[in-house]
Amino acid sequence: MAAGLALGWSERRRALRRRVEPQLPHTARNLAVAACGALALQLAERPVVSRVAALVARRRWGLLPRLHLPRWIEVPVAMALMDYTLYVWHVLSHRVPFLWKAHAVHHIDRDLDASTALRFHFLELGASVPWRAGQVALIGVSPFALSVWQTWLMLSILFHHSNLALPPALERRLGWVIVTPSMHGIHYSVEADEANANWSSGLAVWDRLHGTLKQDVPQRSITIGVRPFVDAERVRLARMLALPFATAPLGE
Ligand SMILES: [Zn+2]
Repeated sequence: MAAGLALGWSERRRALRRRVEPQLPHTARNLAVAACGALALQLAERPVVSRVAALVARRRWGLLPRLHLPRWIEVPVAMALMDYTLYVWHVLSHRVPFLWKAHAVHHIDRDLDASTALRFHFLELGASVPWRAGQVALIGVSPFALSVWQTWLMLSILFHHSNLALPPALERRLGWVIVTPSMHGIHYSVEADEANANWSSGLAVWDRLHGTLKQDVPQRSITIGVRPFVDAERVRLARMLALPFATAPLGE
């Protein structure tokens, strides 16, 4: 909460991209989508995933308990593997049509800022529960490592979705390690070659390894959104919430 407010304040002082919509209704709409998402997290993800992590600890499921690593190594390894498998999930959520319909609700925002970090459709969050449970069970993530990763992920996604212009030298250095606002902004472009890049959600290394990193796009030249949804009428709250339930392919 404090991190979100601090980022919101900083975005107003050092904006990375020019806004196309008034901020207040934009933030209110994103928070309304986020409220439905928070309910899905409380009802579906938290109970399932924390139970799986407890089972990992009790029955020593998954990879990491077999490696008998000291805890100070096991937790960062668990976080890195969770981060990599989240990269894979993100690619799938663009490539698999029914997942894309739900993930598109996150992408059709016409401005990208810290409030977008919270704007995930409840169906997308629900659909990710089996994947998240599988990640925890197969990697063997302990409840402690899971809670550290969840906190880190929340701070990371607030940061890289933000509309915050960092000093270029700092942005360059951070970009070697973590996803920065400029890197993530390129993934929200209406241009397909730009949107099909920068899939990482925490560590930037996965895009470097897969050759999917793109950094040479000036932020002020980016149109944020998804092509059929670039006018205000198509991103109203009710239409966004209904979007994943539409039977027609996206954009018709
Ligand atoms: Zn995406």
